[in-house]
Amino acid sequence: MKEIIQKLHKLNDLDIELQSIRKDLDRIPKELAAKEEEPKLLKEQIEKRKAEIIKLKMEADAMELEIKAGMEALKRYASQLNVLRTSKEFEAVKRQMEAQRGWNSENEDKALALLGQAEVKQKESDGLSAKLAEVEAALAIERARVQKDVGELTAKRDDLLAKRGELSKDVPAKELAIYDRIVVNRGQATAKVNKGFCAACHMKLPPQVHNLALLAKELVTCPSCDRILTPD
Ligand SMILES: [Zn+2]
Repeated sequence: MKEIIQKLHKLNDLDIELQSIRKDLDRIPKELAAKEEEPKLLKEQIEKRKAEIIKLKMEADAMELEIKAGMEALKRYASQLNVLRTSKEFEAVKRQMEAQRGWNSENEDKALALLGQAEVKQKESDGLSAKLAEVEAALAIERARVQKDVGELTAKRDDLLAKRGELSKDVPAKELAIYDRIVVNRGQATAKVNKGFCAACHMKLPPQVHNLALLAKELVTCPSCDRILTPD
């Protein structure tokens, strides 16, 4: 039985390493997936700016048409001035021309303001694109690193699983079942006996349990933490 207990102890070392590798294999791809979110968000922000720029430029174009129409109106008023007979009519057209010049000037200001806003959005979009390129470059390195790490961990896991299979072949089914039940709950499934105490949970062992554990003729578990006690 001593030999079986020693094998279970070795098996437990393998299982603890396997658990740690499985955790890493679960965690590493999740961490990468979280990092993959940043470029997606940046791309969305860039697309939003692009749409805003198109809208602003369309509004500016509409304003330019308005300005052209205003210029045409001014030309028509100017030609009317030549054919008017009374000074009253002349003054009326002059006033209309003044008003039209005012509207034209307002529209020019509006068109300039729209183009200015479009320029600001363009600068924001350029900044976001530069940031995106940076993030993509860092991610490319990260992806390669993760792929390498996952590959190494997977190879190590397979190697440990092969060793585990080899080792557990020599353990009788009954003892293996007891061990498997404990390892699921505890991770560390074995505990050394240390001067009458369980080395894992530090409880003082009842004398009979202590003696049976030292004799190692059967599997003895700690009454407190349920781990398999190993003589030393
Ligand atoms: Zn214990």
